[in-house]
Amino acid sequence: MTTAIGAVMTEHIVTGRLEDQRLTGEPLRFPENPAEPDALVSIPSGELVEVLAEHIARLAGGKAAPVEAIGVAVPGIVRHGVVEDSPNLPQIKGMRLAEELGKVLAGRGIAAPVHVGNDADAIAAGVAATRGRLDRLTRVWTIGNGIGYGRWPYVEGVWEGGHVTVTLDPRERYCGCGGVGHLEGIMGYRAMRLRFLDMEPEEIFANARKGDARCRKFVDLWHRALAAATASFIHLAGPGRFYFTGHNVGFLELPLLRSHLETMVKMSPLQSFSLEILPQDDEIALIGAGVGALRGPGR
Ligand SMILES: [Zn+2]
Repeated sequence: MTTAIGAVMTEHIVTGRLEDQRLTGEPLRFPENPAEPDALVSIPSGELVEVLAEHIARLAGGKAAPVEAIGVAVPGIVRHGVVEDSPNLPQIKGMRLAEELGKVLAGRGIAAPVHVGNDADAIAAGVAATRGRLDRLTRVWTIGNGIGYGRWPYVEGVWEGGHVTVTLDPRERYCGCGGVGHLEGIMGYRAMRLRFLDMEPEEIFANARKGDARCRKFVDLWHRALAAATASFIHLAGPGRFYFTGHNVGFLELPLLRSHLETMVKMSPLQSFSLEILPQDDEIALIGAGVGALRGPGR
């Protein structure tokens, strides 16, 4: 039996114990009642590491089988255990998270290697693992405050799909990273609030459904932007299955996305793509973090 611990640190922290790539018992959560979407943003990085260590120690302790690997998924660019950038969790930027968490865990008598990966990659790994598709290319868009792109199997690279340029309009400058014309600058939650100072994103989509022309136009742009980025990845890595998930996946209308994609992908060998919405589910990412730690190289 293989035993691993998977943790996800995005809008909150969720940690669980995996046995043979399956979640056992109830995951631990911080905060216990997740209300605010930005609950972690104001917490210093050292305290976040302590929360992770506390969770991991509770799940590792008192069980028969020792833990073989610990996987932690975080938003941003993560390479070789270092968080190189994390626009939506800025206090962890530059952190040598694998090393720092490993040290705190060693102090608690836990010696298993710590693998840190990107949160969207963890979802892709989790989907692949739970659907028996670990041998296939799996791609995931996460639609939340930021826009994440994840893929399984792991390949060396940056893969910041949310920052793909989808428009040449110089007025498109709402992306959290400061880049012009980015996908996240159209689709991200914060970006939408900056664009529509007079209404919340939920109201934009509700008004669009009621027929408001300005909101309808934006909702169409939102879907066209996602179609453009997806079409680019189809043209680079081929068709296949794309999953969509995240806090705000409820805004997504798959038929509208598909109709735009069909205008953008015209080469017949590339048209066999499929699109699927995954319900927002922390457990998939947690499983993926653990599976990535057991199977993937360091990131
Ligand atoms: Zn950007």
